[in-house]
Amino acid sequence: AMSAKLIDGKAIAEEIRRELKAEVAELQQKYGKAPGLAVVLVGERKDSQTYVRNKKKACEEVGIVSFGTDLPEDVSEEELLKVVADYNADPAVHGILVQLPLPKHIDEQRVLDAISIEKDVDGFHPLNIGALAMRGRDPLFVPCTPKGCLELLKRSGVVMAGKRAAVVGRSNIVGMPAALLLQREDATVTVIHSRTPDAQKICAEADIIIAACGRAEMVAGDWVKEGAAVIDVGINAVDDPSAKRGYRLVGDVNFAEASEKASQITPVPGGVGPMTIAMLLRNCVDGATRTFAAEAAQ
Ligand code: NDP
Repeated sequence: AMSAKLIDGKAIAEEIRRELKAEVAELQQKYGKAPGLAVVLVGERKDSQTYVRNKKKACEEVGIVSFGTDLPEDVSEEELLKVVADYNADPAVHGILVQLPLPKHIDEQRVLDAISIEKDVDGFHPLNIGALAMRGRDPLFVPCTPKGCLELLKRSGVVMAGKRAAVVGRSNIVGMPAALLLQREDATVTVIHSRTPDAQKICAEADIIIAACGRAEMVAGDWVKEGAAVIDVGINAVDDPSAKRGYRLVGDVNFAEASEKASQITPVPGGVGPMTIAMLLRNCVDGATRTFAAEAAQ
């Protein structure tokens, strides 16, 4: 029987969106301007098109103005860099997001490096990641998915200071920044990756687990300490003939098993997923708030 309390990412994300809507209205009143987000999409990938559409829609719902540039699959790197440079210079734009992955002929690093760090709402610029890793420094932006994981822990009352945390996965966009964020909250963090021996034993000692390995249901019941808080970032489609679409979505955690051990746990879907977009909106509003205040001080 499930004994864990569910961490409802959908409800928490909705609450955050309500808060942001009120903040945007305040900015509008105080400065007569709204935050703006530019979303750049290259090519015709169906999944990327869906993400971009959802991001723009979420913006509009809280009053953020969205700008979009759709470029063909065969666009040159120079042309893409020109689009980024134009948005860097555009005072109505406070956040720039280049939807990844980019086509192979384009140097992704060069494009991400070109985004002004003041508008880097994805938080992927190496200067923002570098600041995240350093004591005494604060990044202008933190990557949205790991930021969403920490927000779920905070809003669920999970104490991080002095606790042991295990992060499964070390990607630039999820695992690595998640580990840095937990460390900034004074947790003692172990990062597990594909070459880690005894991953199960390490996880089983953790008070907090963030699973982001892209392996369906890898974090099983015996990976979870009694009373641990479990955040499941994974989104994996597994075949299921009984499901309408022929598949269903599962996380990187075996939910049925882990929920018998954990004190709190996120579901998939409805956990981390909705938080990612909410944190993108948060970053946009933060960027605009900083810019408006700086402009007003001039
Ligand atoms: P990546 O594939 O970029 O990274 C996976 C990480 O997990 C790597 O560091 C890899 O190790 C590690 N790993 C892989 N297999 C194992 C294993 N058997 N044991 C231990 N570690 C392992 O994935 P992402 O970080 O981009 O995404 C992770 C998951 O989160 C995916 O399921 C993805 O779909 C989901 N996701 C969800 C989002 C959301 O909004 N909810 C947003 C982004 C991602 P190594 O470095 O050694 O290769």
